[in-house]
Amino acid sequence: MTDTFFNIDPRLVALDAGAAQMCGERFAQIEEITCYNQQKVLHAFIENRVSEACFAGSTGYGYGDLGRDKLEQVFAQVVGAQDALFRHSFASGTHTLTVALFGVLRPGDKMLCLTGRPYDTLLGVLGHEKPVSGSLCEFGVEYNEVALAATGRPDLAAIEQALKNQTYKMAYIQRSRGYSLRPSLSVEEIGELCKLVKRISPNTVVMVDNCYGEFVQRQEPTQVGADLMAGSLIKNPGGGIAPCGGYIAGRADLVEACAARMTAPGVGREVGASLGANRELYMGLFSAPHVVGEAIKTVVWVAALFAQLGYTATPTYDAARTDIIESIELGSEAALIAFCQGLQSGAPVDAFVTPEPWDMPGYDNQVIMSAGTFTGGASIELSADAPLREPYAVWLQGGLNFHSAKTGVLLAAQRMLEQGILEIK
Ligand SMILES: *Cc1c(COP(=O)(O)O)cnc(C)c1O
Repeated sequence: MTDTFFNIDPRLVALDAGAAQMCGERFAQIEEITCYNQQKVLHAFIENRVSEACFAGSTGYGYGDLGRDKLEQVFAQVVGAQDALFRHSFASGTHTLTVALFGVLRPGDKMLCLTGRPYDTLLGVLGHEKPVSGSLCEFGVEYNEVALAATGRPDLAAIEQALKNQTYKMAYIQRSRGYSLRPSLSVEEIGELCKLVKRISPNTVVMVDNCYGEFVQRQEPTQVGADLMAGSLIKNPGGGIAPCGGYIAGRADLVEACAARMTAPGVGREVGASLGANRELYMGLFSAPHVVGEAIKTVVWVAALFAQLGYTATPTYDAARTDIIESIELGSEAALIAFCQGLQSGAPVDAFVTPEPWDMPGYDNQVIMSAGTFTGGASIELSADAPLREPYAVWLQGGLNFHSAKTGVLLAAQRMLEQGILEIK
C-alpha cells in the first residue's frame, strides 16, 4: 500500500504488507464465495425479469406495487425460500424479528432458544427477565433457553433433553455472535440443529435470527432446514444502499402469517406503499454479495494486522467466517477510546467528530462507538462498539469497500501508537 494522504507511520505500512501476505489464501476463498453469491443474485434478477418499471414505486395503500412484490420473489429465490417479505417499512432488525415472532407464536405457545442468551434488544421483545409492555411474555408466550456449552457452541445433549421434556411451537437460533465472545454459527451447524429439532419434534418451527450472516457463505439457513429467518437491511442484505428495512423469508404459510402481523390480519402483504425505496432496495440487494465480501476482507485483514501487533483478535485471520464481526481485545480503556477515535477520524462521514464514552441505556458500563456512516446506524458500513469493561474488547464490523475500511483501521492503530499505547518492535 502506498499512502499519499494520511501520513501513516511507516511501521504500520510495513505491517499492512505483512497482513496482506497472511491473508492471501483467505482472500482467494472469500473471492470465490463472493463470485458464487453475486451470480446467484444476478441470476435471480434475470429470471424474475427485473425492469425499470420495478423502480416506479407506489403511494397510499400501495396496492399492486409491481416492484415491491417482484423484489420479494427475487429475494426468496436468492435464499432458497418459498416466500419472503423484503421491505423498507420494517423499522429495524429488532422490529423485523418481532413481527416474525408475533406472526408465528400464539398465547400459550412455548419458545425455546437453542443458542443461549439472545441479542440484547430481543430481551425486551421476550420480556421474561423484567416486565416490558407489549412483550411476548405479556401475551402469554412461554420462553426457555438452553445455555451454550463451555466451548461456546450449542449444547446438543441439553437441547435434545429440553425438546423431549416439553412441546415447543418454536425453536430459535441466533446465527451471529452479536456482541459476545462466543463463536458465530455456520450454516452447516444451523442445518444440524434443524435436523435435531425435526427428529424429536417435527412440528416445531425453526426460526433463525440471520443478522450479519447473509452472503457470508454460499447457503442461507432456509436452504438447510430452517422454516423461517429474518434480518436487517442496514446490515448485509441491503448492500450499504438500502436506507432502512428488514426481511423475513421461509415457508410460505409462515411468511403469510408474518404478513398479517406486519400490516393487518386479512390485509397482509397487499398493502405497504414502497414510496421511492424500490430502486435502492434492488440496488442494495444486487450489491450485497460484493459489499459483504469487502466487509469480510476487512475483518480478516484486521485480525492479521492485530495478530502481528500481539493482540487477541477473534475469529483469527485464517478462520472461515460465518458472520462479519471481529473482536479485538485491546486490554485497556485508553486503548478502546484511542481505537474508536482514530477509526472515526478515517470515516467518509463525520470524520471531524470525536466519539466519547457515554452511559448507554441498558448497559451497566459506559460504551464508546465509532460510526461515520452514510446511513444512520448502518453496521454494514465500517463501525465499532466497545463497552468499557473487561476484557476491554472492541467489536468491529462492516466496510463498504476494503481500501477505505483498511485506511480507517490503520488510523485507529496510528492513534494508539501516537498515544504510546501500541508498541511496534
Ligand atoms: C443487529 C442485530 C439484531 C437487530 O438489531 P437492530 O439494531 O434492531 O437492527 C438482532 N440480532 C442480531 C444478532 C443482530 O446482530
